[in-house]
Amino acid sequence: MNDIENRVAVISGASSGIGEATALRLAEGGAKVALLARRTDRVEETASRIADKGGTALALTVDVTDADSVRRAAERVRSDFGPADLVVNNAGVMLPSALEDRRFAETERQIDVNVKGLMTVVDAFLPQLTDAAESSGRADLVNISSIAAQNLFEKFSVYSGTKAFVTHMSKTLRAELGVKGVRVSAVEPGLVSTELAGRVTVPEIRDWLEPMFESIETLTPEDVAETIAFLASLPNRVNLQQVTVMPTGQP
Ligand code: NDP
Repeated sequence: MNDIENRVAVISGASSGIGEATALRLAEGGAKVALLARRTDRVEETASRIADKGGTALALTVDVTDADSVRRAAERVRSDFGPADLVVNNAGVMLPSALEDRRFAETERQIDVNVKGLMTVVDAFLPQLTDAAESSGRADLVNISSIAAQNLFEKFSVYSGTKAFVTHMSKTLRAELGVKGVRVSAVEPGLVSTELAGRVTVPEIRDWLEPMFESIETLTPEDVAETIAFLASLPNRVNLQQVTVMPTGQP
């Protein structure tokens, strides 16, 4: 297995949950990590924790719906660390509602962050990934999808649609980039205890989700971080294209 020491990792949505745990895990493995999110205080705090433990981290204020901020972050990563060779496209929002309720702003928000934002990150970092693959022979693009890409959850049509996009786009992009030495993976977690569900705005859907989280032992963000570290550590010839990570007790 390759280890992740000295890799240049970029994690979007690194201010909480899966992204934060992934930044900590990759830094622990010896990667230089760039933490991207809107909440500057949170990414700075995590970057300080990494530095205190002897790691190397860069906190960058980025809104993935603002292409200029993503491009500036990409330039900063290249100039501080060299080309990124492990990009974890994790930033996302989940705002389910019945479409009949006409909460179109939330529909747009999910598409803007989960689809357009994710593609903005791909666009900004792709030249670095291909450069890294050419010079060191390894580069990974890991896109965080969801079990919602496969299973049906009523009133999650837009969220599920954005995640189905992430999975299918990733598989198709893998065919394009694999020949250039860039691996592409879609990671589809089941229930993970994070801040995500707390941001659901429809009270009845929150009330439906809460017992679901409480009735089983959910995944921790660290479980997903470990999966990402694992797939990035595999020999270059091995590309886990689609990884579904479920809590054992989730039907
Ligand atoms: P969190 O809410 O803890 O994390 C979401 C992250 O996305 C935050 O760091 C947030 O940072 C960031 N983010 C949101 N909007 C933007 C934006 N416009 N620009 C930059 N960053 C943004 O939830 P999770 O850790 O659970 O979510 C991470 C990913 O995992 C998401 O893509 C989610 O869909 C996916 N997922 C989660 C599951 C779960 O059960 N928790 C299951 C399956 C998939 P900030 O607000 O500071 O910008």
